[in-house]
Amino acid sequence: MMRKIIFATGNAGKMCEVREILKDMDADILSMKEAGIDIDIVEDGTTFEENAAIKARAVAAATQEEAIVLADDSGLEVDYLDKEPGIYSARYMGEDTPYSVKNKNLIDRLEGVPDNKRTARFVCAIAAALPGGEVITTSGVIEGRIDHEEKGNNGFGYDPIFYVPEYGCTTAQLSVEEKNRVSHRARALAAMKEELEQRLFV
Ligand code: IMP
Repeated sequence: MMRKIIFATGNAGKMCEVREILKDMDADILSMKEAGIDIDIVEDGTTFEENAAIKARAVAAATQEEAIVLADDSGLEVDYLDKEPGIYSARYMGEDTPYSVKNKNLIDRLEGVPDNKRTARFVCAIAAALPGGEVITTSGVIEGRIDHEEKGNNGFGYDPIFYVPEYGCTTAQLSVEEKNRVSHRARALAAMKEELEQRLFV
């Protein structure tokens, strides 16, 4: 029987990335909507891993079928700001505040700070709720630093101010394909794929 994997997100971009990375697994990959699940989840964990696990458990509890439920949680950690905005990345300055404003605010808070102290990373945790009830997590990061101005139009969120020295540009200047190859989410998902394969789940 073909395994079912449900990915707990309402975000079409993330769904696309997940399908691409997991495409050679012998499994049906469904979004929450495709699985007929519509629930509000309170993310009240204190780490990316906890929040991802909370989402995966909540969706697994709402699922009738034998499925592996995957969920993710991600954000930006700026070292100079004691790892802010961290798990509050989406809520930073208010959920509905445009990213142009949030990005400008972070640049302002780093006014006069030299490049070697502007280090930052995108972090992503993926949790999998397995059919037996066990929850496992993996994580991935991409290291960079906060730029002095917004650059690039691709991506979303904090991408225009996230400069990656290795590529000499911000993640908003990478093509979708390039970003999907090297992103925190891609790395966390690749690690999860390995975990699931090792456990012979799929
Ligand atoms: P969530 O994991 O969907 O809750 O997203 C957390 C927040 O972190 C997003 O709303 C963005 O603000 C930020 N974030 C996570 N991943 C990225 C990324 O790849 N680029 C830019 N911002 C990101």
